[in-house]
Amino acid sequence: MTLVLTAARHLTPAGRLAEGACGVVVDGDRISYVGDRARALAVAGPDARHVDAPRGTLLPGFVDAHVHLLFDAGDHVVRGVLTQDDAAHRRGIRQRLADLLAAGVTTVRDLGDRDGLVAAVRAEPGIAPRVLTAREPLTVPNGHCWFLGGVVADRRDLRHRVRAHADAGADVIKVMVSGGHLTPGSPPPWQSQWGQEELRIVVGEARRLGLPVAAHAHGTQAIRDCVRVGVATVEHASWSTPDGPVLDRAVLTEAADKGVALSPCVSGLWDLPRFPHRRFRVDAVRAAVEHGVALAVGTDCGLRGVRPGRSYLDGLRIWAEIGFDVPGLLRLASTATARQLGIDSWTGSLSTGKKADVLLLDGDPRAGIAELDAPRLVVVDGRPHRPEVIRA
Ligand SMILES: [Zn+2]
Repeated sequence: MTLVLTAARHLTPAGRLAEGACGVVVDGDRISYVGDRARALAVAGPDARHVDAPRGTLLPGFVDAHVHLLFDAGDHVVRGVLTQDDAAHRRGIRQRLADLLAAGVTTVRDLGDRDGLVAAVRAEPGIAPRVLTAREPLTVPNGHCWFLGGVVADRRDLRHRVRAHADAGADVIKVMVSGGHLTPGSPPPWQSQWGQEELRIVVGEARRLGLPVAAHAHGTQAIRDCVRVGVATVEHASWSTPDGPVLDRAVLTEAADKGVALSPCVSGLWDLPRFPHRRFRVDAVRAAVEHGVALAVGTDCGLRGVRPGRSYLDGLRIWAEIGFDVPGLLRLASTATARQLGIDSWTGSLSTGKKADVLLLDGDPRAGIAELDAPRLVVVDGRPHRPEVIRA
């Protein structure tokens, strides 16, 4: 089927909102034309399905670099993971994907599967958005998120576990370099679970297999180690120490030099009263921008109060507060994040030949981020979806 979408403006790969009647033609799963409206209609031919938003905007679909499809965003996330049966988990995963789709997210990267539940749902027909999976995150005994099943008891098993994940279809290796907030009795966020020696094993083996490494690191020392070894993305990067948050600008310089991206999990959580050190966190992301560090948009959705989809759009408001103008944050959420995830050769921008992952809005997002709340159409892999209105 050929699909042609027309609007008043579109986001260019360089991140400019180009004004003027325009069109995107979708053939199968690919974009076959981007440009002038009349030309698009001619290219598509009279039998194409045409969706027109005369005052609207065409954007590449958004990418959420850090989701937990297994987590229910309720008050007892860990208990939910441990007590629900697999059928209930699969239903939950499908609903969360629908919520992400409604926010215009066309690719998610799941960083916390258990027993391949997420991997099984993504293989079901008609599932959208597209799911990249890390399978079970690697962690230490009784460490952060041990309950997902990714415990590596002996350092000598790290290489083997990376290989097993690759064999099981992982798109990325997730490694818990520091403690976190979620797991009772596990190390605190500032404390490292692993150091450079273990990270070198993981990154080396993943690289050999062509996989990027996403490293969970709250602690300042853990972030330092991740950047030194050269992971692809440092998740959270909250710069925790036993004495409160401490930013290390030399680490930012090194990250910029090495092309290590930060994925600070900016979401609606940042606006909840219990979110710690908000001012510091905003300033830390600004410092990363000033140092030229690459950034990825991810939410950590699934954690308590971090609703899939809704928290993504709330996070975009905070990215605006950090200093991105509207075209800049639309590019960050699509093209730039796709790049940090290593998938920009085939998605993340409105370009001929790329996967047709496209958002059609009825309005102009420069009138307010709320214009993103109800996309007219979300196209994933060339398949159009009319999402439900996004849930609170
Ligand atoms: Zn997470």
